[in-house]
Amino acid sequence: MKKHNFNAGPSILPDVVLENAAKAILNFDGSGLSLLSISHRTPEFEAVLNSARNLFRELLNIPDNYQIFFVGGGASTQFFHMPANFLGKKAGYVNTGVWTKKAIKEAKLFGEVEVVASSEDKNFSYIPKGFDIPTDIDYLYICTNNTIYGTEYKNDIDSPVPLIADMSSDILSRPVDVSKYAVIYGGAQKNLAPAGVSFVIVRDDMLQKVVRTLPAMVNVNTHVDNGSMYNTPPVFPIYVMNETLKWLKSIGGVDEIYRRNVEKAGLLYDAIDRSKIFRGTVAKEDRSLMNICFVMEEGYEELAPAFMEFAKSKGMVGIKGHRLVGGFRASCYNALPLESVQALVACMEEFEAANVK
Ligand SMILES: *Cc1c(COP(=O)(O)O)cnc(C)c1O
Repeated sequence: MKKHNFNAGPSILPDVVLENAAKAILNFDGSGLSLLSISHRTPEFEAVLNSARNLFRELLNIPDNYQIFFVGGGASTQFFHMPANFLGKKAGYVNTGVWTKKAIKEAKLFGEVEVVASSEDKNFSYIPKGFDIPTDIDYLYICTNNTIYGTEYKNDIDSPVPLIADMSSDILSRPVDVSKYAVIYGGAQKNLAPAGVSFVIVRDDMLQKVVRTLPAMVNVNTHVDNGSMYNTPPVFPIYVMNETLKWLKSIGGVDEIYRRNVEKAGLLYDAIDRSKIFRGTVAKEDRSLMNICFVMEEGYEELAPAFMEFAKSKGMVGIKGHRLVGGFRASCYNALPLESVQALVACMEEFEAANVK
């Protein structure tokens, strides 16, 4: 039976990317050697790294005054790298869930944190809006897509202070005005690659704003100055990321993937809204295109385990909601085909017809 992969992360990658990755493990670029067994300083691997960097810039329209680097450690490492580099006295954070809470905790190790806005009062089911941004902070920090709660910023906010954004789970899923941000970073394992590499996009002026003496691996300048090659970079995840970026370009880039993502999410949210037995958990205007959360409607809660079993029998994988939200979460990342969403919708409708008189 065909599996429909709604995993939240690590998550679905395009078939062609996996095929090329498998080939490269056995015989990289016709070299007769595995990608996993060559020096990262070979011209062949440097070409992969340069290609990934260039495609990232091209696809996301990253202006020339920004640098891009790739580094190990995952997004959680950037939770402390950002304040280590840029928090001198005080930073502002918008608290939209688990990932910002963790980032706030790390930032407090380096200075004062002002929570500028929060949606914790309603279990992070919306994106705070219309808050004032203080001007006495070193930076404002946001998470643009809240993977666990299924909320997403729909606009790039204007900030009078440098804006730092965790885009782990919506990077390259929609157009972004990079010029509004001082730093954009994320783990690659949601939309781009297997786990093991993060991308960091940093505006040139920030490179002079590092506020303290830091270990080399923590300082953003190290990675910019050495072109992601200060130490051994995560070779395999970078290779796969480059393949994903090539795939994204081949299908028409960010505009086309955004169109597809809007179509996929629209189909599923419409089904949730039509249904008598399911309901969405997020304020409609803040609904994520990537992580679609829903629960059983009041009065139908006891059907949840039966729906989970039914969905599994139809090939649905990874739709169990995070324990903090409950219910279901269908992650519809870039590589998820429309057919998978259509199959999930059909499965929800069939279950509803069979269980509700
Ligand atoms: C998954 C995720 C993280 C954590 O990433 P790691 O690479 O596991 O550290 C951080 N932020 C967001 C938005 C995520 O989705």
